[in-house]
Amino acid sequence: MSQTNDCIFCKIINGDIPSAKVYEDDQVYAFLDISQVTKGHTLVIPKQHAKDIYDTPEDVAKNLFSRVPKLANAIKEAYQPVGINILNNNGEQAGQSVFHLHIHLIPRYGEEDGFG
Ligand code: 5GP
Ligand code: ZN
Repeated sequence: MSQTNDCIFCKIINGDIPSAKVYEDDQVYAFLDISQVTKGHTLVIPKQHAKDIYDTPEDVAKNLFSRVPKLANAIKEAYQPVGINILNNNGEQAGQSVFHLHIHLIPRYGEEDGFG
């Protein structure tokens, strides 16, 4: 897999930085966000480094996005949320802070997380 040395998410994939793994296969890695917006907040990333959606080859995107329904269902089963937000930030002004493509899966619980 093509990876960059100074990317924290590449380091997470390699195991150089510890993470709470949710799911892994040959193409993608999913782990809990270190700063949980809500309980179960998960990030899913391609193992091949791409800095954002503009930098992502179609086959990498296909593999990444194809895992989302399965992961959403796993989160639904594990955490029993009432809904889930799925989002992807591209560019600093759009809220991207880590420049390795990632999809946020944020389970929603209604009133207790402020969105009731
Ligand atoms: P962004 O703001 O780029 O859309 O999302 C980056 C996410 O990565 C943030 O929600 C942030 O909490 C998470 N994050 C940053 N560094 C680490 C880390 O070292 N470990 C984990 N698990 N999450 C991280
Ligand atoms: Zn990377």
